[in-house]
Amino acid sequence: MNYERILVFGAHPDDEIAMGGTMAKLSRQGAEVVVVTMTDGCEGYPSEDMRDKVVELRRQEMADCDEVLGIGRRIALGRPDMGLVNDKETLQECIRIIRDVRPDAMFTHGPHEHHRDHANTHAITVEAQWHAGQPVVAALGPSYRTPHVYYYKAVMDRRASVVIDVSDTEHLKALARGTQVSQHTLFGRTKQQFEQEAERIRTSGARYTESLWFAERTVLHDFPGKGL
Ligand SMILES: [Zn+2]
Repeated sequence: MNYERILVFGAHPDDEIAMGGTMAKLSRQGAEVVVVTMTDGCEGYPSEDMRDKVVELRRQEMADCDEVLGIGRRIALGRPDMGLVNDKETLQECIRIIRDVRPDAMFTHGPHEHHRDHANTHAITVEAQWHAGQPVVAALGPSYRTPHVYYYKAVMDRRASVVIDVSDTEHLKALARGTQVSQHTLFGRTKQQFEQEAERIRTSGARYTESLWFAERTVLHDFPGKGL
C-alpha cells in the first residue's frame, strides 16, 4: 500500500479514526493524507450544557486528531449532523474535492450502516468517485478516476480484501480517540484511560491489524499480481 496521496471520507468528526492506524502508517511513509468530514457533529453532545459549544469543541478535536495521526489536510464540509442529505450540491462538492486532490486511493464508509449520515456518506462518495472520472461537469475540474476505492468499516457480508499490519501505529488510534474529549461519554473512557491504553498497546509487542474492503467498483487490474 505505497500510496502517495489518499483521500478519506467520514460522516462525523472522529469516524476516520476507525482506520487511524493505516492513515498514520501511510503518513509516516511520506504519503499525503487528506480527510473530508461531511458533518459538523452538532448532535454529538452528551449533556444539554454542551449543546452550544459542541461544534466548536469538535473543530478543535479534529485539529488535535490530525496532529496525532499525521493527517495533513482536513476538509470540513459542515453539513448538519443527522441531517446530511444526498443532494446535488453535496455530490458536486465531493466530485470537486476528488478532482482537486487526485488521490491514489479513496476510503469511505461501507454499505452496512445504521446512521443516516454514514449511509448517505457511502452513497454520495461512491457516486462522486464515479462521476469524477467521467467527462461531465468540467466546471468542477478535469476528470479524474481514483484507481482504488476501499471501505474501512460497515461491510458485513465479505471477508476483508486487505489486512494492514498497524502494530507500529495502533497506539496512535487510542491517542486520537483521547483527543475527542466531547465524545468520551460515548466511548466510556477518559483521556487518561486512552493514554494508558496507548502506552499498553505501544509496549505490548502484540500484532494489530485493520481491515479494508474493495468497493464494488474497484478495478482490480490495477493491482499487481491480481491477473484480472
Ligand atoms: Zn459517525
